Amino acid sequence: MLPEITPLIAGNWKMHKTLAEARALAREIRAGLDPAGTVEVAVAPPFTALAAVAAELTGSPVGLAAQDAFWEPQGAFTGAISPLMLQDVGCRYVIIGHSERRRHFGETDAGVNRKAKAVLDQGLRPIVCVGETLAQREAGETLEVVSRQLRAGLAGLDPVQAAALVVAYEPVWAIGTGRTATPAQAQEVHAFIRSLLPEVVGNAVVRLLYGGSVTPDNAAALLAQPDLDGALVGGASLQAASFLKIAAAAA
Ligand code: PEP
Repeated sequence: MLPEITPLIAGNWKMHKTLAEARALAREIRAGLDPAGTVEVAVAPPFTALAAVAAELTGSPVGLAAQDAFWEPQGAFTGAISPLMLQDVGCRYVIIGHSERRRHFGETDAGVNRKAKAVLDQGLRPIVCVGETLAQREAGETLEVVSRQLRAGLAGLDPVQAAALVVAYEPVWAIGTGRTATPAQAQEVHAFIRSLLPEVVGNAVVRLLYGGSVTPDNAAALLAQPDLDGALVGGASLQAASFLKIAAAAA
């Protein structure tokens, strides 16, 4: 990790947690965080729990994140949530282009690009997810796929706004599977992304998170890699104990 980068550990709660469960988890995370910690922590509850979790986190350093956003600020877009609404409810981050959105909801790189721009325009920080499938990795296409996703997803971003950007490398084969990229595999792709970003977004310092079956057992080895600036955590973020251990491993 570059010395000036504060690590970020973000928990993606996906489609989990009722209101009562979300409040309880937010409270536990808040209470268990090291107050002198050098790591930034954020949680991404489902939309239904954003306001409740925001209330639980008031006055704490834990950031609020959304799991997606549409690109328009308002209008006749039934079912969609805008960056304006997410800012209004207290979000700091918005996950964009998660592989589950790409796979189940037809998210494209062009859509990711519009969403990332809209999120930045609203003063929020997009966490833009990229990553290859198992078939693409086995065909030796990993770097090509990641490059294509980044070039298209981040095309035309304002270089000043890009300072707020976070990129998450999440190999699809590692998400929710218990099969983690090795530290060397993750580092290889992160170094590649780091080298590509100046061409795509200019010289902003962009935090690069790794995601894919991060647990308290593998977090330290992954986060020790020089180009990993944090983690996007799914399953292990659903319990405060495991999520807090991962945050501690990043310190
Ligand atoms: C994710 O949802 O972004 C993720 C990485 O999930 P998991 O940690 O469960 O693999």
